[in-house]
Amino acid sequence: MEQEIHITLRFNLATGKAGLNEIVYKLKELRDPLMLKILEKVLMSYDDLISECLSRTDIYPSKARKGLGRHIRKGDPEGRFCRGRKIRKRGHRGRPRNFSTVFGKLKLPLRVAECRNCGAFYSPLLSALKVGRYARRETNFEHEVIESVIDTNYRRLIDGRSIDISLGGIHNIVIGSDIDDTFQKPVSVEDLSAIMADGTGVKQQEGRKGELRAVIGITKAGRVEPLGSFTNTAWPEIERNIKERIKEAEPYNIPFIYDGEPGLDDFLADVAESQRCAWHGPRGLYHSLWQDGLKKKYSQPETDKIKQLIGIELPEGDFEILKEEDKETVKSKYESSKAEIKELIKTFREKGYKNGASYLENISDRLFTNIEIWLKTGVIAPKTTSLLERLFREIGRRLKKIAWGWSDKAVTNISKMIMIRQYSRDKWEQYWKDKLGIKGYFDIEIMSVNLPSCKHF
Ligand SMILES: [Zn+2]
Repeated sequence: MEQEIHITLRFNLATGKAGLNEIVYKLKELRDPLMLKILEKVLMSYDDLISECLSRTDIYPSKARKGLGRHIRKGDPEGRFCRGRKIRKRGHRGRPRNFSTVFGKLKLPLRVAECRNCGAFYSPLLSALKVGRYARRETNFEHEVIESVIDTNYRRLIDGRSIDISLGGIHNIVIGSDIDDTFQKPVSVEDLSAIMADGTGVKQQEGRKGELRAVIGITKAGRVEPLGSFTNTAWPEIERNIKERIKEAEPYNIPFIYDGEPGLDDFLADVAESQRCAWHGPRGLYHSLWQDGLKKKYSQPETDKIKQLIGIELPEGDFEILKEEDKETVKSKYESSKAEIKELIKTFREKGYKNGASYLENISDRLFTNIEIWLKTGVIAPKTTSLLERLFREIGRRLKKIAWGWSDKAVTNISKMIMIRQYSRDKWEQYWKDKLGIKGYFDIEIMSVNLPSCKHF
């Protein structure tokens, strides 16, 4: 049904004094309150229309009442819906219903209907708006809250628009999100060039320290594919969860990269080949030699040497494709490094550095399978430190900004949102569009904006 809204604006302009900046500034201030007024009028007219359709059954055919007037039968112990679609108008509710909207707080007077069949009193507008009996906000608002939390500027959202939402309210929006149930589509390992996992500490409720863990895939095109994030969840459980999302059962020789995190040695062993981050080698070797009784002064030259030997596997960026022309260089460096490390292990043994020798043996195995895979596939394993650390830093910064301990569920959800928005922008947009249910059932346009001619000229 087509209707019009007429808006009258009055302005006062100090001739010769008002500048562009001030005019725009004042118009900007008008934007949200104006939209709020328009929203109110549209909704009130919607309410009137519904009440008309349901009460004037002599005029409107049953087709016009389709989808309207759904309500629970009065006194029904099982809360079943009533079939009655005829009402008596019973005026407005004593108090308006409050909604948090993206334009600010809306106070909406609601019509009350009395069902002629069962006698129930209800507000038919609510079910038509698809907001549910207790909803106090609309989804655009929810979207903005979440975006602003991710951008860590939620303060501005609240302060700038007298939006009434507490930190607790934000927390509830994040917890109530269905982000956990979406983004569960199966992932094909075939499209991935690597899988990475790592964890980081987060401050939670009452200063409790929690552990946030994330698993991501790197696609062959070099994009990040979030696979999951978890709070205070054991690695075996995370593994089960990730496996459920992975299509294949057969093994693929893609590298699984991690930072020496305990408990990850056999993670996803069915589908990936695990590789400890090799640049932890020097630090680990220092520790092992220390266990052998070597002071830093004496272990330093050895750890430096290792740093040099494994230097071939430290590409600059997050992720790199090994160029064909570079393969030969990598290959010869790999062979000479391999020989030198073997030599070093032998020397350690001779000197009685038992821990140092077995540590080196252990990492060199991994290190060299690592390089062998690169040479074979041409894909250089990403430097987990930069990519995962950056991801965790971003999540951590946001959680800190909220300056308020979050529950497991909230930390999990917000980190998932940050990952998806950051790395799968298109999926993130689609998610909100689906959630908002934009289907073309409402359309509004500006018909005309006129200044009535001034009677003085
Ligand atoms: Zn009824």
